[in-house]
Amino acid sequence: MVVADMNTTSLPLSTSFFLRKWTRKCTKNLISAPNFLVFSYLDFIDSVFCVVYRYLDLLLEGEASPCYCRSKNKSETINDDEENGISETLHGRQKKLKEMIDLIEFVEKLLNRNKGFEAGYGDFNYRKKVGIHRLGNRWSDCGCDSCISWMKVDDPKLHVVVKEASSNDSKENTKTNSSENVIFIHGILSSSSFWTKTLFPKMSESGKADNYNMFAVDLLGHGRSPKPRDNLYTLRDHVEWIEKSVVSQFGLNSFHLIAHSMGSIIALALAAKHSKSVKSITLVAPPYFPSKDGVEFTVINSLTPKRLWPPEAFLSSVMTWYEHLSRSVCFILCRNHRTWESLVKRVTGARDVNFMFLDMIKITHHSGWHTAHNVLYRGVKQMDKNLEILMKLRKKVHVFMGTRDRSVPPDGGDKMKNKFPQVEVNNIPDAGHRSVLFNREDVLAHDLFQIWNNSTSSSILNGIVNCN
Ligand SMILES: [Zn+2]
Ligand SMILES: [Zn+2]
Repeated sequence: MVVADMNTTSLPLSTSFFLRKWTRKCTKNLISAPNFLVFSYLDFIDSVFCVVYRYLDLLLEGEASPCYCRSKNKSETINDDEENGISETLHGRQKKLKEMIDLIEFVEKLLNRNKGFEAGYGDFNYRKKVGIHRLGNRWSDCGCDSCISWMKVDDPKLHVVVKEASSNDSKENTKTNSSENVIFIHGILSSSSFWTKTLFPKMSESGKADNYNMFAVDLLGHGRSPKPRDNLYTLRDHVEWIEKSVVSQFGLNSFHLIAHSMGSIIALALAAKHSKSVKSITLVAPPYFPSKDGVEFTVINSLTPKRLWPPEAFLSSVMTWYEHLSRSVCFILCRNHRTWESLVKRVTGARDVNFMFLDMIKITHHSGWHTAHNVLYRGVKQMDKNLEILMKLRKKVHVFMGTRDRSVPPDGGDKMKNKFPQVEVNNIPDAGHRSVLFNREDVLAHDLFQIWNNSTSSSILNGIVNCN
C-alpha cells in the first residue's frame, strides 16, 4: 500500500518537474532567439560602419583611423598586446561575419583605394616613439574649447580639483606642510564631480577636512582632462598621468587613496607602485574578480552581457561590443555635448544639468572605448598582483560595497577578503553602485576620516617601533 502511494505521488512530481524544466528551457530559447537575431544584425551593421568610417576618415582627414576588426590574427600583435596592457577583449569580441569582411576587402581592392586602410593599432607605438602626439581632434569628436584646450599646452596635465587644507596658503605648501593628502579617483564615464559635488561639501561641513589636502582628478580622456588620440588608455597610461599631474606636480610624499568602481583598479596599481608613500586605500564598489587567465572575457560577459532589456543594458552592450556603432553613438551624444546640455536645460527648465549625464557625454569614443577594454576588463587581472604587494607591506585596504549593486558583483568585497583576509570589507545593506555614496555622504565621510586617522596613528606607531 505504501509502495503504491509512493508511485502515485512520484509520477505527478516528476511530471511537474519535467514541465517546469521544459517551460524554463522554452522561455530561455524564446528570449535568446531575438537576442541572437538582433545581435547578429548588429554584427552586420557594425561591419558596414567599419567601411563607412574608413572612407569618411580618408575623405575628411586623409587617413583612416585604425580599428580592431582585422588585426586580431597576428600572433605578434597578441604578444605585444599582453606586454603593452592591451585587453584581449578588443581583438576577441564577437567574430565579424567572415563573408562580410571578405566582401569589404574585395570592394576595397576593386576601388584600389587602400591608401590609409592598413593602419593598425600597432602604429600607435610607432607614433609614440617618434613623438607624433599632437594629432588634433577627430572629425567625429567635439572640438569645443573645453575639449581641445589641452592641445595648446606644451606639457598637458590632467584636470585636478584641489581643496587645500585650511591651514595652507598656497598649493606649494603641500610640499612641506604636515597636512595629510588624499587623492580621489572616479570610475568610468565620470569625472572629479563625482566626489566634489557629493562628498567634498559634507566633508567641509564636518569641519574635519581642515587637515587634509584633497585632490580629485579627471581621469585621462574624461571630464576636462586631455583626450589624446595617440594613447591606448591602458592601466599604465592612467597611472602615469596621475603621477605626473598629481603626485609629482604637488610633490606628494605620502597620500591616502579613495576610488570608486573602475577607479579602484587604477588606485590599486598606483598604490602598489608608490607603496612607500601610500597610507591607506579605500575602494568604493570595486569590480573584483579573482585573477586568472582569460578573466577579461569573464568580466566583459559579467558586467556588460549582450542583452536587449532593460534599455540601459542594451546600450551598454552596443557601447562595449561594437566598435563602430559605439563611435556613432558618441558622434551623436559626445560630439554635441554642449547642444544636449542646452537642450536638456530648455526642456526641463533647470539651471543645472545633472553632472553625471554631462560627465557621461564628455568623453571621446577613442578614450571611452579603450579605457573600458584596457582598464575595466583587462585591469581586473592586475588587482590580485597589486593587492599581494600591498598586503605584504601591511597596507590598509578598505572596501565599501552595496549589497544591491547591479553594476559590479556585490559579493566582490567578500571574495577579495577570502583571498586577502587583511582587507576590511563593509557591506552596506540595500545600497547600489552609486548609492553606496549618494545620500549617505555624511556616513561615508565619517568612516573615511576614521580610516585616515587610524592609518596615520598606526604609521606613527610603526615609526616609533622601527626607531626603537
Ligand atoms: Zn573596423
Ligand atoms: Zn566639447
